[in-house]
Amino acid sequence: MASVDAVIVGTGPNGLAAAVTLARAGLSVELHEQHETIGGGLRTVPLFDSGVLHDVCSAVHPMAAASPFFRRFGLRERGVELLRPEIAYAHPLPGGRAALAATDLDRTCAGLGADGERWRWLMAPLLARGHGVVDLIMSGPRPRPRDPVAAARFALRVLRLTAGPAPLRGREAQALLAGVAAHLIGPLPSTAGAGVALLLGHLAHGTGWPLPRGGSGRIADALAADIRAHGGVFHTGRRITDLGELPRAKAVLLDVAPKGLLALAGDRLPRRYRRALERFRYGPGAAKVDFLVSDPIPWAAPGVGAAGTVHLGGTREEVFRAETATARGRRVEDPFVLVVDPAAVDPSRALPGKRPVWAYAHVPHGDPRDPVDIVRRRIEEHAPGFTDTIIAARGVPAARMEDHNPNYVGGDIAAGAMSLRQAFWRPVPGLDPYRTPLPGVYLCSASTPPGPGVHGMCGHLAALSALRREFGVHAPVPLSPPAGTS
Ligand SMILES: Cc1cc2nc3c(=O)[nH]c(=O)nc-3n(C[C@H](O)[C@H](O)[C@H](O)COP(=O)(O)OP(=O)(O)OC[C@H]3O[C@@H](n4cnc5c(N)ncnc54)[C@H](O)[C@@H]3O)c2cc1C
Repeated sequence: MASVDAVIVGTGPNGLAAAVTLARAGLSVELHEQHETIGGGLRTVPLFDSGVLHDVCSAVHPMAAASPFFRRFGLRERGVELLRPEIAYAHPLPGGRAALAATDLDRTCAGLGADGERWRWLMAPLLARGHGVVDLIMSGPRPRPRDPVAAARFALRVLRLTAGPAPLRGREAQALLAGVAAHLIGPLPSTAGAGVALLLGHLAHGTGWPLPRGGSGRIADALAADIRAHGGVFHTGRRITDLGELPRAKAVLLDVAPKGLLALAGDRLPRRYRRALERFRYGPGAAKVDFLVSDPIPWAAPGVGAAGTVHLGGTREEVFRAETATARGRRVEDPFVLVVDPAAVDPSRALPGKRPVWAYAHVPHGDPRDPVDIVRRRIEEHAPGFTDTIIAARGVPAARMEDHNPNYVGGDIAAGAMSLRQAFWRPVPGLDPYRTPLPGVYLCSASTPPGPGVHGMCGHLAALSALRREFGVHAPVPLSPPAGTS
């Protein structure tokens, strides 16, 4: 007999979302995490013995703010304050100017000159459909357009960005959109990149690109509190190396990449499925840098200091060139870099004379280079004097990302290349990609639809699949906080 209803390996946002869903359905749930701290991509930890907290992976949360799972879970009601910077993201350009995407769409359009109305044409009709676009993209392997108008508007704009003359004509607007497309971490221009640009681009003017007060770990804390309140139990500090180490359970949900599933299952997997997992493609790498600095980043261009996220990639052509070369495994001198100065949005993140800076560079898969100097130079270019503010720095090369999280194979923080095919069919083609051929064993990580990012939907959808098949539960699961919480 099973000693527990469901076991989850990995406590990233998807493992936690799966556990919330199962625990709220009334099941007994046990979670296993290799680190002492839970959260995976949501961990916020002290570094450099300074008392300052750093986000190890994710820092900015447009998808957590918008995802169907978190909308129902109710982060705000559980005390997670999502701080929306007035400038969602900025894109400095040579010559001391920067393109700015304000949370306020009108302000953004006004700043983009002749391209302002074209930017509005791209974003406003998507914004006007409420959650239609997000729900379409995050609804899983078989997107069911509950809002066909939103689906049609999204498809039309993807087409407009990928075929025919570019809808944006000026250098600033073009670079601004290219920087959002680069969140794909893949070759550009591409259909998948256009989809990412429109999804994240329109969210900037809606829910915004917020940072949780206190760091990403606050989201993990809220999820963990709900799991514990519903009887869930955490086991931390031990890596699971074989499925046989887990207690007997009716359902096992794995917040791991296909490579992790192959290792955990060994020769239990049927050959055909194992082959398919072996064919799963991982994408380019990310190389993370954490700085401890004495002052706010001295950005040269006006407005950039108020931005939650800063994209350093130059013109659209430069962004596209660097991203495509990186995806093909070539090292470029000036890779695309993302930078966040969390205390610019959340002053609670700074201590006197000390604050964190979060950054990562897009680099080839498995790149062993220490990224500190690459990123420092890139920031210094647009913020002269930055180097003098650095107290300490820590770089994690793409080749070493797997050391702290086995899901980031070769530094691929998307847990699988986001090609058009793998955006829908992750990890293998099929009607229920969460289910594996092993009885009761499910995959629930970002290597399943809808893919990377902190939205919890991979975990939630995998849990719903397990509930239906293993427990015969078809009724909707309540996720909302208990009445009276604020
Ligand atoms: C540098 C960086 C920056 C990012 N920035 C953002 C951002 O700003 N916004 C955003 O939305 N997303 C961002 N992401 C992506 C986001 O963090 C991931 O897409 C998301 O965390 C994936 O969630 P997950 O639950 O699938 O897996 P993960 O968060 O990767 O969690 C997997 C967990 O499983 C554990 N685990 C794996 N195998 C085992 C095992 N065998 N035994 C025990 N434990 C195991 C791992 O230790 C880990 O805790 C970023 C990622 C990185 C690395």
